[in-house]
Amino acid sequence: MSTRNKIALPALILLLILGSACQAGWSIPLTENGQVTGAITRENVEFYIEKSEEEIEVVPLGQFLYDNGYRLIDQIVLHSEGNDPVTFTWDKIAEAANLSSAGDLTLDGAPYPVDNLEIQPSERLSEVELSIMDLTPTLLTALDLPALPDAEGQPQFNFTAQRAVIILTDGAQYDKWQAMRSSGKLPLSAGQDKVYCGLSVYPPITTSASAALLSAAPPAKNGVYGYGYRSTELTTLFDRVAESGGSVAAVEGASLPFNLRNAAVILSGDKEGNGHSDDNVFQNALDVIQNNMPTLLYIHFHEVDDMGHSYGENSAEYETALIRVDHYIAQIVAALPADTLVVITADHGLHTTSDGGNHGTLTAADMLIPITIILK
Ligand SMILES: [Zn+2]
Ligand SMILES: [Zn+2]
Repeated sequence: MSTRNKIALPALILLLILGSACQAGWSIPLTENGQVTGAITRENVEFYIEKSEEEIEVVPLGQFLYDNGYRLIDQIVLHSEGNDPVTFTWDKIAEAANLSSAGDLTLDGAPYPVDNLEIQPSERLSEVELSIMDLTPTLLTALDLPALPDAEGQPQFNFTAQRAVIILTDGAQYDKWQAMRSSGKLPLSAGQDKVYCGLSVYPPITTSASAALLSAAPPAKNGVYGYGYRSTELTTLFDRVAESGGSVAAVEGASLPFNLRNAAVILSGDKEGNGHSDDNVFQNALDVIQNNMPTLLYIHFHEVDDMGHSYGENSAEYETALIRVDHYIAQIVAALPADTLVVITADHGLHTTSDGGNHGTLTAADMLIPITIILK
């Protein structure tokens, strides 16, 4: 070792010590009714900063509430020494509540001191009947195929069927779906006995929800943490059907938002240039059903989400897209052969923003999804 290195090494150690002192560990306890229910630490924040495919400096607070078992929240109360507690309606700040690796909390960009965070869960949680992760176990049981090794979802009901269909309406919000069903705007849906209240996963975005749907496991287990992650290493529903000798077809929109391996993928762009792709998804789905019906057919409509992003959940455009999909689904169900189990659902919901709509927050609008099950 040279003389220079002998001097450099202690200096380096000193720098490392100083550096780690600057990044001191911290922990924010979570409380509910005066009881500690969990905590958020620097390591938790750093985990997601490292996992992010984009350069980020803060992580949504909702991520850590979800990781601590919270699903739907009414209010959060910030407690800090020397200050009065501050209460926030969660839905109003969920989009802009962030934590940095230094433990700094910001709400709408403004810093807030917090020594402990009191959580008031939402009573709406009692409405939830199914998890998006229950759907694959339910379908595998119905098809008499072995369960997935890493499944957290559970088989529900007791269906048996020769074939299965999943119809995914991207961005269909549970509350909107139910309201439109009640007012007769979704005739196919209104004709069903029951639309279940389903819970998606956090973050409620297409990639994470698709992975959770097909692997029956949450993001922490299937590795699809958010934007930028497009495939899972866990065994999926498609893998299981294919390895058992079954066939899988997936009718998608113009592009593939998530890796659908072990499926014959049919892309459905707007080939006539009429501004729509759901009509092409519908036509391609009908073609498959009539000419080459597989063991498992996956159909993904995209326009409800597109209209939601552009115009928000209360727009005529969002409603019209939902009505069109309901109409397509009615014709798809009519065309299906007997002994087919159909699951009609969404990957996530949507909420209105100042410039249209968005999703990805830990709120009922984004997390709750409609689930309809039909045995044809
Ligand atoms: Zn989506
Ligand atoms: Zn979207």
